[in-house]
Amino acid sequence: MKIQIPADVAWILEKMREAGYEAYAVGGCVRDALLGKEPNDWDITTSAKPEETKTIFPKTIDTGIQHGTVTVMKNHVGYEITTYRIDGTYADGRHPDSVEFTSDLKEDLRRRDFTINAMAYSEETGVVDEFGGMEDLDRHVIRCVGNAMERFTEDALRILRAVRFSAQLGFEIEEETYKALSVIAPNLKHVSAERIQVELTKTLLSAHPERVMLVEKTGMTPFISKTFGRIFEEESNFTGTGHGGNTAVSGKSVVRSLYARLERAAALPQEKAVRWAALLAELEDKTAVQILREMKLDNDTIRSVKTLVGHFTDRFDWDTDSVSQAEHKNMAESKEREYLARKFMSEISPELLDRLFLLIHTLDPDRGKMVDDAAALVDKIRKRGDCVSLKTMAVTGQDLIQKGVKPGPELGRILAEMFEKVLRDPAENEKEKLLRMLGDETAE
Ligand code: ATP
Ligand code: MG
Repeated sequence: MKIQIPADVAWILEKMREAGYEAYAVGGCVRDALLGKEPNDWDITTSAKPEETKTIFPKTIDTGIQHGTVTVMKNHVGYEITTYRIDGTYADGRHPDSVEFTSDLKEDLRRRDFTINAMAYSEETGVVDEFGGMEDLDRHVIRCVGNAMERFTEDALRILRAVRFSAQLGFEIEEETYKALSVIAPNLKHVSAERIQVELTKTLLSAHPERVMLVEKTGMTPFISKTFGRIFEEESNFTGTGHGGNTAVSGKSVVRSLYARLERAAALPQEKAVRWAALLAELEDKTAVQILREMKLDNDTIRSVKTLVGHFTDRFDWDTDSVSQAEHKNMAESKEREYLARKFMSEISPELLDRLFLLIHTLDPDRGKMVDDAAALVDKIRKRGDCVSLKTMAVTGQDLIQKGVKPGPELGRILAEMFEKVLRDPAENEKEKLLRMLGDETAE
């Protein structure tokens, strides 16, 4: 079996071999190349010790020297080169207490998590597959190298990696490996919130976001974060039952509808905020924010998810469907609708508004028509170029100061009043007209 390796990787392997060492591409890149996917990065494993690797290449970075990893730069891309190693005991359920270098490739492959991640490749040898990785790739199976219970006991992060790879690749988790997920779930307490989050985020961003439900199914939920379990509770603001109680029962109907929603989420853009919002859509926005904070998501993502979740259940009463367009010939009413649309547009960025419509359209087909109509109205307003932001209002704070208004709350109030007028009627967005309001005020 031959795989295509990039010229720079081939060059690195070649240099190492010339220097008298073994060197292979290893892990995820071999897996992805065999699947015909473009690998994210190419990792290299070698019999050379880190100091030896450093003598071969002029420019290296000590990335994780204590674990045997140095990075070689080639054409501005970094390649991690790690010495064959055997991991020592894992007292903390997450990191090996020590690592030991070895000259045996097979030992290095044995320490890796899953069979499909435990293959190496070089042009000379072809694929080195000591643990049945090729067969599992063919059969679409995630299986631990060796005994699943032992491997997960060493490092509990691996149980989330199993879920993540199953979601990314659309593979099933082999039975022994699957059974061990539930048993080891409590060990997630040894895994940092960030690492848990990274794996869940990758799961949600994958082709099978619905596989995040494996977390609930295998009993990992209570160990993900304090509030994470709320996702699977019966109550939701969507059904209008409120959030008063603490019923920790995970309702079957919730799980079913959540599963269906996450299946649909596969069609959404692969963006962190959008995919997390799909998972959290039916929670109150403050609960969603709490979960994301516990999971140490970045503030940008948290802010976006808050907006998306907060408006997910909105009715968009200002929509225009074809029937009501005929009905609302009444000018006053259509004006009111456009005003409500502009007001909403002024409260949420254009990008996020588009995401919100897409989110509802994709996840809740019952409201698809409603958001499409709302989106059509927004589109019309955008094309017309109505002012929906203070930034494009014809009067600025500076203008007001020039007119003698003192900076402070009063200035803010006047700007807000002018903006409200402009939102009501875009024709009012002219400097002279707006400043006339000021005249009225000072005259009062
Ligand atoms: P990705 O596409 O996300 O980069 P990957 O398989 O390359 O997937 P990495 O986290 O980059 O995953 O790790 C590279 C390789 O290191 C894996 O393929 C696996 O062989 C090994 N590995 C990584 N993390 C672990 C772990 N927690 N336990 C055992 N082996 C691991
Ligand atoms: Mg990788």
